[in-house]
Amino acid sequence: MADNKDVIKCPACGKEMKKIFIQDSGINIDICIDGCGGINFDNRELEKCDENHEKIDEIINSIEGKTFESIDKNAVRYCPCCYEMPMTRMGAADGEIEIDVCNNCGGKFLDHGELLKIRESQGKNNNSIDKALESIYDLNDSKIKANKRRDFFIDIVHKYI
Ligand SMILES: [Zn+2]
Ligand SMILES: [Zn+2]
Repeated sequence: MADNKDVIKCPACGKEMKKIFIQDSGINIDICIDGCGGINFDNRELEKCDENHEKIDEIINSIEGKTFESIDKNAVRYCPCCYEMPMTRMGAADGEIEIDVCNNCGGKFLDHGELLKIRESQGKNNNSIDKALESIYDLNDSKIKANKRRDFFIDIVHKYI
């Protein structure tokens, strides 16, 4: 689904979400700034914000230092873009958290703080991938290493997208 332009209501607390434009990736995401601090990503937008090297200053600036409403994390959420479509829970950040995914449009909703957890765990995984690769290949040659890493990520991307 294309970048959603309508004002949508937060699937966790019902408040209207604010659009934040992320310069680095050129996408608009919806943040529940006046409510619970949750973030809604349209299909494939999360992939542009989930790694540590990807710049999300606009998100950080809009939520930093704010206090957000607490919400029931176990309540079923309904996709704000697909009328009354219940979202599915999916484990993320090595099972540390669960995010809500819409099977219809591919949208994802993250509670406040979950995006940073995903970014942290991506960073950790990168290191553990290096270690795993080192045990298999002789990776003194950094070019081989870069290629292996690339293959590995392409594999992951195919699995999840
Ligand atoms: Zn909210
Ligand atoms: Zn949806």
